[in-house]
Amino acid sequence: MSNRQRNEWITAHTEQKDLSVLNSEFEHASPDVILKWSYEEFGTRVVMGTGFGSSGVVLMHYLSELGLPVQVFTLDTGLLFDQTYKLWKTLERKLRLKVERVSPILTLSGQKNRFGENLWQIEPDKCCHIRKVLPLKKYLSNKKGWITGLRRSQSEYRESIRKIEWDATNQVYKINPLADWDQEEIWWYINKHDLPYNPLHDEGFPSIGCFPCTSPVEEGEDERAGRWKNLQKTECGIHVPDFNPAKRSSAE
Ligand code: SF4
Repeated sequence: MSNRQRNEWITAHTEQKDLSVLNSEFEHASPDVILKWSYEEFGTRVVMGTGFGSSGVVLMHYLSELGLPVQVFTLDTGLLFDQTYKLWKTLERKLRLKVERVSPILTLSGQKNRFGENLWQIEPDKCCHIRKVLPLKKYLSNKKGWITGLRRSQSEYRESIRKIEWDATNQVYKINPLADWDQEEIWWYINKHDLPYNPLHDEGFPSIGCFPCTSPVEEGEDERAGRWKNLQKTECGIHVPDFNPAKRSSAE
């Protein structure tokens, strides 16, 4: 075993040991307990990512109420719905926080010049890689923790997520305080606190991403069924370990 392999083995097993302890402690803990722990553990090197969906609204409200100075960021692909950009401003005002914009290096016109018109139709994995996966990796490169609004009930792919995970791709702890919340609990919380939310949720869009790749869902479909509808793709790649578009079929 080389030194590098040995170090990787130690890192993997150390993380796993810590994670099993943390997850048994936090499995039934409320989001505020987990958020406070995150800030105590990582200080200003923990950040929260949001696409301004309903779970993100709940977490931002928790941070604001707790007075935790955790930086919130969004991956701005340049292709978000107008309603999402509007909600961004409303939430900043209402919750008294600033959401940092994380942008891809390649502008939309640069992407068009290099890969042709509407890359999201031809190679959505590549488009997500350029506009989401790479900017996130760069942004998290000097961070220790990444808080997300992931929930087990969102889709089959997400049903086994844990409250605290190790993200080997970005080398950060991934913190999912709402992992065990379902949609009903999210909306109960939003209504109880009279929080602003994306009006598209009332038009059949439970999950909202970039406008070219988001559709409404039919009754009975899972929350993320409107993302990349009619394709096998269900995730943009930021929550997929070692996502590499080159290994996937562009015909998905
Ligand atoms: S969701 Fe669609 S438009 Fe947005 S980055 Fe991915 S492929 Fe591109």
